[in-house]
Amino acid sequence: MQRILALLLCVAGPLAADPPRIVADIAPVHSLVAMVTEGVTEPELLIPANASAHDLALKPSQARALTRADLVVWVGPELSPGLGRALDATAERTLALLRVPGTQLYPARDAALFGDMGLSGHVEDAHAGHDHSHDGIDPHAWLDPVNAVMWLTALAETLAELDPEHAAAYRDNAVRAVARLSVMTARMDDQLEPARHSGLIAFHDAFQYFEARFGLSMVGAITPSDGSDPGPARLSALRDAARDGAVVCAFAEPQFNAGLLEAVTQEAGLPVATLDPMGANLTVGSDLYEALLMQMSGAVTDCISMGVSQAGSGE
Ligand SMILES: [Zn+2]
Repeated sequence: MQRILALLLCVAGPLAADPPRIVADIAPVHSLVAMVTEGVTEPELLIPANASAHDLALKPSQARALTRADLVVWVGPELSPGLGRALDATAERTLALLRVPGTQLYPARDAALFGDMGLSGHVEDAHAGHDHSHDGIDPHAWLDPVNAVMWLTALAETLAELDPEHAAAYRDNAVRAVARLSVMTARMDDQLEPARHSGLIAFHDAFQYFEARFGLSMVGAITPSDGSDPGPARLSALRDAARDGAVVCAFAEPQFNAGLLEAVTQEAGLPVATLDPMGANLTVGSDLYEALLMQMSGAVTDCISMGVSQAGSGE
Protein backbone atom coordinates (compact mmCIF):
# COMPACT_ATOMS: atom_id res chain seq x y z
CA MET A 1 0.00 0.00 0.00
CA GLN A 2 2.70 2.42 1.01
CA ARG A 3 4.55 1.75 -2.19
CA ILE A 4 1.44 2.47 -4.29
CA LEU A 5 0.88 5.71 -2.40
CA ALA A 6 4.45 6.78 -2.99
CA LEU A 7 4.08 5.99 -6.65
CA LEU A 8 0.87 8.00 -6.89
CA LEU A 9 2.47 10.96 -5.13
CA CYS A 10 5.35 10.73 -7.53
CA VAL A 11 3.12 10.85 -10.57
CA ALA A 12 0.91 13.61 -9.20
CA GLY A 13 3.79 15.72 -7.88
CA PRO A 14 4.93 18.97 -9.48
CA LEU A 15 7.35 18.65 -12.39
CA ALA A 16 9.92 21.00 -10.88
CA ALA A 17 11.82 19.32 -8.06
CA ASP A 18 12.12 21.15 -4.77
CA PRO A 19 15.49 22.86 -4.41
CA PRO A 20 17.87 20.93 -2.14
CA ARG A 21 17.86 21.52 1.61
CA ILE A 22 21.26 22.85 2.52
CA VAL A 23 22.66 23.20 6.03
CA ALA A 24 25.77 25.33 6.69
CA ASP A 25 27.77 25.01 9.91
CA ILE A 26 28.76 28.61 10.83
CA ALA A 27 27.47 32.05 9.84
CA PRO A 28 30.35 32.98 7.47
CA VAL A 29 29.97 29.67 5.62
CA HIS A 30 26.20 30.11 5.57
CA SER A 31 26.75 33.50 3.97
CA LEU A 32 28.94 32.08 1.20
CA VAL A 33 26.35 29.38 0.51
CA ALA A 34 23.56 31.99 0.51
CA MET A 35 25.46 34.01 -2.11
CA VAL A 36 25.50 30.99 -4.40
CA THR A 37 21.87 29.91 -3.77
CA GLU A 38 20.38 33.42 -4.06
CA GLY A 39 17.08 33.31 -5.96
CA VAL A 40 16.88 29.50 -5.66
CA THR A 41 16.80 28.61 -1.98
CA GLU A 42 18.06 29.66 1.46
CA PRO A 43 20.48 27.54 3.46
CA GLU A 44 19.84 26.78 7.10
CA LEU A 45 22.41 27.87 9.72
CA LEU A 46 23.39 25.09 12.15
CA ILE A 47 25.56 26.85 14.77
CA PRO A 48 24.38 30.29 15.92
CA ALA A 49 27.10 32.92 15.50
CA ASN A 50 27.26 33.70 19.22
CA ALA A 51 28.25 30.10 20.07
CA SER A 52 31.75 28.65 19.80
CA ALA A 53 32.00 26.07 17.04
CA HIS A 54 34.92 24.33 18.76
CA ASP A 55 33.02 22.65 21.56
CA LEU A 56 29.73 22.05 19.83
CA ALA A 57 27.35 19.51 21.35
CA LEU A 58 24.42 19.01 18.98
CA LYS A 59 20.93 19.76 20.24
CA PRO A 60 18.10 17.49 19.01
CA SER A 61 16.87 20.25 16.67
CA GLN A 62 20.36 20.51 15.13
CA ALA A 63 20.59 16.74 14.74
CA ARG A 64 17.21 16.77 12.97
CA ALA A 65 18.38 19.54 10.61
CA LEU A 66 21.36 17.38 9.66
CA THR A 67 19.22 14.32 8.93
CA ARG A 68 16.84 16.34 6.76
CA ALA A 69 19.60 18.03 4.75
CA ASP A 70 20.45 17.11 1.16
CA LEU A 71 23.85 18.76 1.58
CA VAL A 72 25.80 19.85 4.66
CA VAL A 73 28.46 22.49 3.97
CA TRP A 74 30.95 22.73 6.83
CA VAL A 75 34.50 23.82 7.52
CA GLY A 76 35.69 20.38 8.65
CA PRO A 77 36.29 18.28 11.77
CA GLU A 78 39.28 20.49 12.70
CA LEU A 79 36.83 23.26 13.59
CA SER A 80 34.05 21.24 15.22
CA PRO A 81 34.93 17.63 16.03
CA GLY A 82 31.43 17.17 17.50
CA LEU A 83 29.83 17.94 14.15
CA GLY A 84 32.29 15.54 12.48
CA ARG A 85 31.08 12.70 14.69
CA ALA A 86 27.43 13.55 13.99
CA LEU A 87 28.02 13.63 10.22
CA ASP A 88 29.83 10.29 10.34
CA ALA A 89 26.70 8.87 11.93
CA THR A 90 24.17 10.33 9.50
CA ALA A 91 26.34 9.89 6.38
CA GLU A 92 24.55 12.70 4.60
CA ARG A 93 26.17 14.33 1.60
CA THR A 94 28.74 16.84 2.84
CA LEU A 95 31.19 19.40 1.51
CA ALA A 96 34.09 20.04 3.90
CA LEU A 97 35.59 23.35 2.81
CA LEU A 98 39.06 22.65 4.20
CA ARG A 99 39.24 19.75 1.69
CA VAL A 100 38.40 21.84 -1.37
CA PRO A 101 41.40 21.59 -3.73
CA GLY A 102 43.52 24.75 -3.77
CA THR A 103 42.47 25.86 -0.28
CA GLN A 104 45.32 27.64 1.50
CA LEU A 105 45.92 25.80 4.79
CA TYR A 106 48.19 26.65 7.72
CA PRO A 107 49.21 24.41 10.60
CA ALA A 108 47.87 25.32 14.02
CA ARG A 109 50.35 27.35 16.08
CA ASP A 110 50.99 25.97 19.55
CA ALA A 111 53.31 28.56 21.10
CA ALA A 112 51.91 31.52 23.03
CA LEU A 113 54.18 33.86 21.07
CA PHE A 114 54.27 33.25 17.34
CA GLY A 115 57.67 34.83 16.59
CA ASP A 116 58.95 33.78 13.16
CA MET A 117 57.45 30.35 13.47
CA GLY A 118 54.00 31.70 12.76
CA LEU A 119 54.08 31.58 8.99
CA SER A 120 57.38 29.89 8.33
CA GLY A 121 56.49 28.19 5.11
CA HIS A 122 54.88 25.04 6.55
CA VAL A 123 52.23 25.91 4.08
CA GLU A 124 49.97 23.14 2.91
CA ASP A 125 47.56 22.88 0.10
CA ALA A 126 44.48 20.72 0.00
CA HIS A 127 44.76 18.18 -2.79
CA ALA A 128 41.97 16.21 -4.34
CA GLY A 129 42.22 12.57 -3.39
CA HIS A 130 45.23 13.29 -1.24
CA ASP A 131 44.28 11.30 1.75
CA HIS A 132 46.72 12.43 4.42
CA SER A 133 45.66 13.37 7.90
CA HIS A 134 44.89 17.02 8.44
CA ASP A 135 45.54 16.84 12.15
CA GLY A 136 47.00 20.06 13.40
CA ILE A 137 45.50 22.25 10.67
CA ASP A 138 44.31 25.67 11.83
CA PRO A 139 40.62 25.51 10.81
CA HIS A 140 39.87 29.27 10.59
CA ALA A 141 40.50 29.30 6.85
CA TRP A 142 37.37 31.31 5.96
CA LEU A 143 39.15 34.46 7.18
CA ASP A 144 41.25 34.43 4.01
CA PRO A 145 38.91 35.81 1.33
CA VAL A 146 40.99 34.08 -1.35
CA ASN A 147 39.89 30.77 0.18
CA ALA A 148 36.30 32.01 0.16
CA VAL A 149 36.59 32.73 -3.54
CA MET A 150 37.85 29.19 -4.15
CA TRP A 151 34.96 27.77 -2.14
CA LEU A 152 32.28 29.78 -3.99
CA THR A 153 33.21 28.02 -7.20
CA ALA A 154 33.33 24.61 -5.50
CA LEU A 155 29.91 25.28 -3.96
CA ALA A 156 28.40 26.21 -7.31
CA GLU A 157 29.72 22.98 -8.86
CA THR A 158 28.52 20.81 -5.97
CA LEU A 159 25.08 22.40 -6.11
CA ALA A 160 24.89 22.17 -9.90
CA GLU A 161 25.49 18.43 -9.60
CA LEU A 162 22.92 18.04 -6.84
CA ASP A 163 20.30 20.23 -8.51
CA PRO A 164 21.01 20.39 -12.27
CA GLU A 165 17.81 22.33 -12.89
CA HIS A 166 19.32 25.41 -11.19
CA ALA A 167 22.91 24.86 -12.29
CA ALA A 168 23.08 28.07 -14.33
CA ALA A 169 21.75 30.14 -11.42
CA TYR A 170 24.33 28.70 -9.00
CA ARG A 171 27.18 29.33 -11.43
CA ASP A 172 26.06 32.90 -12.28
CA ASN A 173 25.69 33.70 -8.59
CA ALA A 174 29.17 32.35 -7.87
CA VAL A 175 30.72 34.47 -10.63
CA ARG A 176 29.07 37.60 -9.21
CA ALA A 177 30.10 36.71 -5.65
CA VAL A 178 33.71 36.12 -6.70
CA ALA A 179 33.81 39.58 -8.32
CA ARG A 180 32.30 41.12 -5.20
CA LEU A 181 34.83 39.52 -2.87
CA SER A 182 37.72 40.49 -5.12
CA VAL A 183 36.72 44.15 -4.89
CA MET A 184 36.36 43.80 -1.11
CA THR A 185 39.82 42.21 -0.77
CA ALA A 186 41.48 45.05 -2.68
CA ARG A 187 39.73 47.59 -0.46
CA MET A 188 40.84 45.79 2.70
CA ASP A 189 44.39 45.62 1.41
CA ASP A 190 44.45 49.43 1.15
CA GLN A 191 42.77 49.91 4.51
CA LEU A 192 45.13 47.57 6.37
CA GLU A 193 48.37 48.74 4.77
CA PRO A 194 49.23 51.19 7.57
CA ALA A 195 48.49 48.48 10.19
CA ARG A 196 51.15 46.10 8.91
CA HIS A 197 53.87 46.58 11.49
CA SER A 198 51.88 46.99 14.69
CA GLY A 199 52.07 44.08 17.15
CA LEU A 200 48.68 42.63 18.12
CA ILE A 201 47.42 40.03 20.59
CA ALA A 202 44.36 37.96 19.71
CA PHE A 203 42.06 36.29 22.16
CA HIS A 204 42.10 32.92 20.48
CA ASP A 205 44.37 32.01 17.63
CA ALA A 206 41.75 32.39 14.92
CA PHE A 207 43.33 35.02 12.71
CA GLN A 208 46.33 33.37 11.07
CA TYR A 209 44.66 33.38 7.64
CA PHE A 210 43.61 37.00 7.99
CA GLU A 211 47.11 38.02 9.15
CA ALA A 212 48.81 36.18 6.31
CA ARG A 213 46.55 37.55 3.61
CA PHE A 214 46.88 41.17 4.75
CA GLY A 215 50.40 41.10 6.21
CA LEU A 216 49.47 41.83 9.84
CA SER A 217 51.69 40.93 12.78
CA MET A 218 49.91 39.02 15.53
CA VAL A 219 52.41 38.58 18.35
CA GLY A 220 50.45 35.85 20.14
CA ALA A 221 47.07 34.61 21.29
CA ILE A 222 45.66 33.80 24.72
CA THR A 223 44.13 30.50 23.65
CA PRO A 224 45.33 28.16 20.86
CA SER A 225 43.42 27.71 17.61
CA ASP A 226 41.31 24.86 19.02
CA GLY A 227 39.94 27.27 21.64
CA SER A 228 41.29 25.25 24.62
CA ASP A 229 42.14 26.98 27.92
CA PRO A 230 45.60 28.55 28.31
CA GLY A 231 47.99 27.54 31.09
CA PRO A 232 49.74 30.05 33.39
CA ALA A 233 53.00 29.89 31.36
CA ARG A 234 51.20 30.98 28.21
CA LEU A 235 49.54 33.87 30.02
CA SER A 236 52.77 35.10 31.56
CA ALA A 237 54.64 34.95 28.21
CA LEU A 238 51.95 37.15 26.72
CA ARG A 239 51.95 39.49 29.71
CA ASP A 240 55.70 39.92 29.30
CA ALA A 241 55.36 40.67 25.58
CA ALA A 242 52.69 43.25 26.36
CA ARG A 243 54.86 44.86 29.04
CA ASP A 244 57.90 44.94 26.75
CA GLY A 245 56.02 47.20 24.36
CA ALA A 246 55.97 44.70 21.51
CA VAL A 247 52.19 44.96 21.39
CA VAL A 248 50.04 47.94 20.39
CA CYS A 249 46.63 46.52 21.14
CA ALA A 250 44.71 43.35 21.96
CA PHE A 251 41.46 41.82 20.81
CA ALA A 252 38.57 40.26 22.69
CA GLU A 253 36.06 37.94 21.02
CA PRO A 254 32.35 37.79 21.73
CA GLN A 255 32.38 33.98 21.94
CA PHE A 256 34.98 33.82 24.72
CA ASN A 257 35.35 35.04 28.30
CA ALA A 258 37.22 38.36 28.46
CA GLY A 259 38.61 37.91 32.00
CA LEU A 260 41.68 36.07 30.74
CA LEU A 261 42.47 38.84 28.32
CA GLU A 262 42.39 41.39 31.12
CA ALA A 263 45.02 39.39 33.00
CA VAL A 264 47.36 39.96 30.06
CA THR A 265 46.54 43.53 29.07
CA GLN A 266 45.84 45.28 32.37
CA GLU A 267 49.38 45.80 33.57
CA ALA A 268 50.56 47.19 30.22
CA GLY A 269 47.37 49.23 29.85
CA LEU A 270 46.77 47.91 26.34
CA PRO A 271 43.63 49.05 24.56
CA VAL A 272 41.23 46.21 23.80
CA ALA A 273 38.86 46.03 20.85
CA THR A 274 36.56 43.25 19.71
CA LEU A 275 37.63 41.13 16.78
CA ASP A 276 34.98 38.62 15.86
CA PRO A 277 35.76 35.78 13.43
CA MET A 278 32.13 34.52 13.35
CA GLY A 279 29.90 37.57 12.85
CA ALA A 280 27.97 37.28 16.14
CA ASN A 281 26.53 40.80 15.85
CA LEU A 282 25.74 40.64 12.12
CA THR A 283 22.55 39.70 10.32
CA VAL A 284 22.73 36.16 9.02
CA GLY A 285 22.52 36.02 5.23
CA SER A 286 24.38 36.55 1.98
CA ASP A 287 25.81 39.94 3.06
CA LEU A 288 27.33 38.65 6.30
CA TYR A 289 30.64 37.43 4.89
CA GLU A 290 31.59 40.78 3.39
CA ALA A 291 30.30 42.66 6.46
CA LEU A 292 32.36 40.37 8.71
CA LEU A 293 35.63 40.94 6.87
CA MET A 294 35.07 44.70 6.61
CA GLN A 295 34.21 44.80 10.31
CA MET A 296 37.45 42.97 11.16
CA SER A 297 39.42 45.34 8.98
CA GLY A 298 37.86 48.34 10.76
CA ALA A 299 38.45 46.79 14.21
CA VAL A 300 42.16 46.30 13.48
CA THR A 301 42.72 49.85 12.27
CA ASP A 302 40.68 51.36 15.14
CA CYS A 303 42.44 49.30 17.79
CA ILE A 304 45.86 50.19 16.43
CA SER A 305 45.07 53.89 16.32
CA MET A 306 43.87 53.70 19.95
CA GLY A 307 47.11 51.96 20.90
CA VAL A 308 49.25 54.46 19.04
CA SER A 309 47.54 57.52 20.52
CA GLN A 310 47.75 55.96 24.01
CA ALA A 311 51.49 55.30 23.62
CA GLY A 312 51.94 58.87 22.35
CA SER A 313 50.14 60.44 25.32
CA GLY A 314 52.24 58.44 27.78
CA GLU A 315 55.47 60.04 26.69
ZN1 LIG B 1 38.09 29.32 16.51
